Amino acid sequence: MEQPYIYILDPYPQQAPEQTRLYPFFQFLRDGRLTTSRCKKCGTLPWPPRVVCPECMSDELEWADLPREGKIYVYTVQETGLPPGYDPPVVFAVIDLANGVRLLSVIEDSEISEIKNGADVELIVKKVPQDRVMPAFRLKR
Ligand SMILES: [Zn+2]
Repeated sequence: MEQPYIYILDPYPQQAPEQTRLYPFFQFLRDGRLTTSRCKKCGTLPWPPRVVCPECMSDELEWADLPREGKIYVYTVQETGLPPGYDPPVVFAVIDLANGVRLLSVIEDSEISEIKNGADVELIVKKVPQDRVMPAFRLKR
C-alpha cells in the first residue's frame, strides 16, 4: 500500500503566487530554466533568488537565467535519515555553474559509481509531490 504523504515533514517550498514571492522561479523551472534574481541597481546575482538584494537592499530585482550546466565541486551519498519523498541512496552535490554560481542540489538519473568530483552535470527538473518541481542535476550525456 502506498504511504500517505506526510505534509508536516514536507521538505519542499510552496510554489504558488499566494504562497511565495519567488513563485516565478518555479514557473521558469517548469520550462527547464534555472533562474535567480539580479539586482537592477548593483548587478548582484545571488543564489538562491531573493526578494531583496543582499548587497544594497534594493527590491528592484529582475529574473536572470543561470547556466544549465556545471561541474560537481564535491558530493556525498546519503543512505539513511532522508526527508520524505527521497528514496535512498541520494547524492547531494555542491555544483559550480559555468558563471561561477555555486549551489547545493541533488544528482539523479545517474550511475552513482560514475559520479566524481569535477564531473560535468546538467539541469533536470525533479517532480515532487503536489505538482511541484525542484532543480536537480544528472551526469551530462
Ligand atoms: Zn543590489
